[in-house]
Amino acid sequence: MQIVALAGGVGAARFLRGLLRAAPPGQICIVVNTGDDREFYGVQVSPDLDIVTYTLAGVVDEAAGYGLEGDSFATVEALARLGHATWFRLGDGDFATALHRTQRLRAGAGLAQIAAEICAAYGVAARILPMSEAPCPTFVTLTDGRTLHFEEYLAREGAPDSVRGVDLSAARRAAAGPGVLDALAAADAILLCPSNPVVSIGPILAVRGVRDALARARAPVVGISPIVGGAPVKGPADKLLRGIGAEVSARGVAELYRGLCDGFVIDERDRAQSRDIEALGMHCLATDTLMRDAQISRALAESALELARTIASRKTGPRQTSRSAPHKTAPWLPE
Ligand code: GDP
Repeated sequence: MQIVALAGGVGAARFLRGLLRAAPPGQICIVVNTGDDREFYGVQVSPDLDIVTYTLAGVVDEAAGYGLEGDSFATVEALARLGHATWFRLGDGDFATALHRTQRLRAGAGLAQIAAEICAAYGVAARILPMSEAPCPTFVTLTDGRTLHFEEYLAREGAPDSVRGVDLSAARRAAAGPGVLDALAAADAILLCPSNPVVSIGPILAVRGVRDALARARAPVVGISPIVGGAPVKGPADKLLRGIGAEVSARGVAELYRGLCDGFVIDERDRAQSRDIEALGMHCLATDTLMRDAQISRALAESALELARTIASRKTGPRQTSRSAPHKTAPWLPE
């Protein structure tokens, strides 16, 4: 069984830790958001690629949710002493990853090749594919009129509430990364990780050809809600959902994925929304989605795969209707 998971950072990483326990790494391909990528301190940082890689390698700093466990920060501290703004915390080991990426890009290597090299160096057997090799910065517009790169919004400004909109136009212009569309076409199950739907899954869906590939894929597409009990588990998904006019709920996320997903996994405390979600044309499964440890992550991954298998085994049902009626009402996604 070939599984393709669309992934952002922290929420995705927690889920993927469980997916790796539920299926052999050779069957897993992860398509990762690069909308957060940016140059810091002269090196090219790919936050979500690195979080996913470090998590699958078992070396992520679990408490921070990013970076390498036990990493030191001597480089950014020395840069601060020299007068640099160091609001983006980059550990020394993490700096080396970004420096390697920068050098290899300069030598002409592509982001996908470099991601594979970093995976090999960290002993990660699953395939990790950048959504695109073109720069795809995600911008957040605030009510005061300022437009910020997503990392400026999150790390520098502390994710203020005053979001007016999200600009995914760079992703919309970008071609999919090597292997991405082929992996979607060949998949037996496609999962949308419990990631930020607006700034993690949104950019991947915006990349040219990805939504078409999802619509044409023979595999069922199953999403997992990052919103539990009406709030994100971590991060600013509530502010961004409100900023694009979506409801902050499992149902609100399902609405964004209408026409893309055949199935949706929600937390058991949101079970009352199951019927509304099924009315959107998706099978809905309620279970424990709060990934407090690796066992729960594994059980959640198994539930999502089981839902995908159930949908695949049915000849009729929401799958046909959802695929033939692509969602038209999300201005943050291309038509
Ligand atoms: P980011 O790029 O670091 O923000 O990471 P993601 O986009 O992958 O993840 C952010 C989302 O993960 C947030 O909306 C969280 O609510 C969600 N998340 C984090 N931990 C959990 C969890 O244990 N369960 C669920 N269902 N969602 C989670």
